[in-house]
Amino acid sequence: MEEQKQNQKEKNKKNKLYYGIAILLAVIVIAGIAIWYITANNQTKNDTELAYTELIKKIDAGEVEKIEMTVGSSSAKIKLHGEEEEKNTSIPNTQAFIELIQTKVLEGNSIEFNQKKQNVLVGISQTLFSLLPTILLVVLFVLLFKMQGLGDKGKVYDAETTKSKIKFDDVAGLDEEKNEMMEIVNFLKDPKQFYEMGAKIPRGVLLCGKPGTGKTLIAKAIAGEAKVPFISMSGSEFIEMFAGLGASRVRKLFEKAKKVAPCIVFIDEIDAIGSRRTSGSGAETENNQTLNQLLVEMDGFDTEETIIVLAATNRPEMLDKALLRPGRFDRQITIALPDMKGREEILKIHAKGKKFAADVDLKDIAGDTAGFTGAELANILNEAAIIATIKKHDAITQDDVENAVKKVTVGLERQSRIVPEKDKKLTAYHEAGHAIVSSQLETQKDIKEVSIIPRGIAGGYTMYKTNEDKYYISKTEMEEKLVALLGGRAAEKIALNDISTGASNDIEVATQIAKDMIIKYGMSESLGPISVNTDKDPYELQLFGEKFGDAVGAEVKIMLDNAYLRAQTILANNMDKLNKVAQILMEKEVISAEEFENIIK
Ligand code: ADP
Ligand code: ZN
Repeated sequence: MEEQKQNQKEKNKKNKLYYGIAILLAVIVIAGIAIWYITANNQTKNDTELAYTELIKKIDAGEVEKIEMTVGSSSAKIKLHGEEEEKNTSIPNTQAFIELIQTKVLEGNSIEFNQKKQNVLVGISQTLFSLLPTILLVVLFVLLFKMQGLGDKGKVYDAETTKSKIKFDDVAGLDEEKNEMMEIVNFLKDPKQFYEMGAKIPRGVLLCGKPGTGKTLIAKAIAGEAKVPFISMSGSEFIEMFAGLGASRVRKLFEKAKKVAPCIVFIDEIDAIGSRRTSGSGAETENNQTLNQLLVEMDGFDTEETIIVLAATNRPEMLDKALLRPGRFDRQITIALPDMKGREEILKIHAKGKKFAADVDLKDIAGDTAGFTGAELANILNEAAIIATIKKHDAITQDDVENAVKKVTVGLERQSRIVPEKDKKLTAYHEAGHAIVSSQLETQKDIKEVSIIPRGIAGGYTMYKTNEDKYYISKTEMEEKLVALLGGRAAEKIALNDISTGASNDIEVATQIAKDMIIKYGMSESLGPISVNTDKDPYELQLFGEKFGDAVGAEVKIMLDNAYLRAQTILANNMDKLNKVAQILMEKEVISAEEFENIIK
């Protein structure tokens, strides 16, 4: 909230400035046009035009009697033999033109050539006009420099008043990480002790992990524990449309840090500025300047300056290697997704201050939310509180929380949508297909719920129980996942002899998994243990040659075909169960785990 307000203020300031610039530009342009109008009129009054090439021809032909030019002007008045009226010609290169006439005169051409000084007033206005672009630029630069000062977004959580109140206790799980960070906290609290001992403390720590895993939170907690100011900025804020601003922002940020040291500087999304330097132009060069400035600042710390720079990224492999050298971000801490125990602890922290019914079991919810980030878990409990309020419950019930989980994962239930009977049947068979196929596969998870109530963009969904955290996924499990994913399409085909677009997402996911199995996890038998990182560079596949690409494509197709065939076989052998589940879904729209178990038995 605090930060939002501040951002708003800064935006207003910025807006005012842009407004000012716009008015100034308008005034300058109008004045320019007015001046130009006066001068131009003054000069070209009653003149007729003669093209430059024509003039040259006429000079050669000796038809020109008199040429008159004004110093500093690029047009000439031409009088031809036997004509009363003077003509006007604009001269592209006056110096070359004068030299040309001089040669012509030397060659015996009798041109009368006059250069005259210009009318003082016209002269001044013309000079002014020609200087306009320069004036404009100067004005712009002055404005930009001012704006840079105002737009400086480094937020200082002031040592006395708005110090980060977050403590390690507010960060659930991450025990090892917190232990490691304790060293930094102690250093910030009493740097002298470390200096006297000659101990070296890391200047920069890189926090790697998905968004929402608590990187910012832990950085704030370090500041909170050490009771030092927390200065933060996001990498994307350094990247501006005006060249040079990024670098000067970095400088300002560190100037500020030096003033309040000991302190924490936190740079979020460092990959926005810290990605590999290129020799490109424009925006890239701007990036390079910003990155170089950051490197300079980090190298320039005095030994006595107690500033710790924490930076967060989800893509450490993208970072310029120079950033990771000793004395810079030479320590990396990876913040993983929370495990079951971690999720329970995160839920406990965010449950504080919320009213829960007796039936709520946070451990249960932790079991259902493998793969969720801390931010998502916090979001679930907040959504649950909102759902409970809307339903006028006295307290948040287990049901509310489960609904919140669904809302966060599959999207909001859309009860208002009226589903035609035909679509209902299709969805019922599709979801029943996933459920039946999964239930017949050793490695696939148990069914938690099957539903044909539309949620988000999905027409229906099959939810699986997730109650264990795994560190590895086997090839067999991945292969069977493909079968389960294609179970929806297979059921449509087998039961209704038609297929729909409803399976498009399943097929997309299945294709991605098959591709990953081959070129990411090296699980292909024919291509062997190989890894082609197309996430980093989509063209990397091309490096391996056309034949290799063809082989990958062929293998992906074989894997998907096999999986589809297996799904169809499973369903053909379990037609009664498929029909039964689909039937119940059409009647009741939802099947619980127990009901499903009963049918399967
Ligand atoms: P990141 O910086 O990694 O994107 P944040 O630190 O901004 O993630 O996390 C967002 C929010 O998620 C936090 O403000 C907090 O509410 C919640 N959160 C994430 N991880 C944890 C955790 N380990 N313990 C408690 N809350 C967490
Ligand atoms: Zn599906």
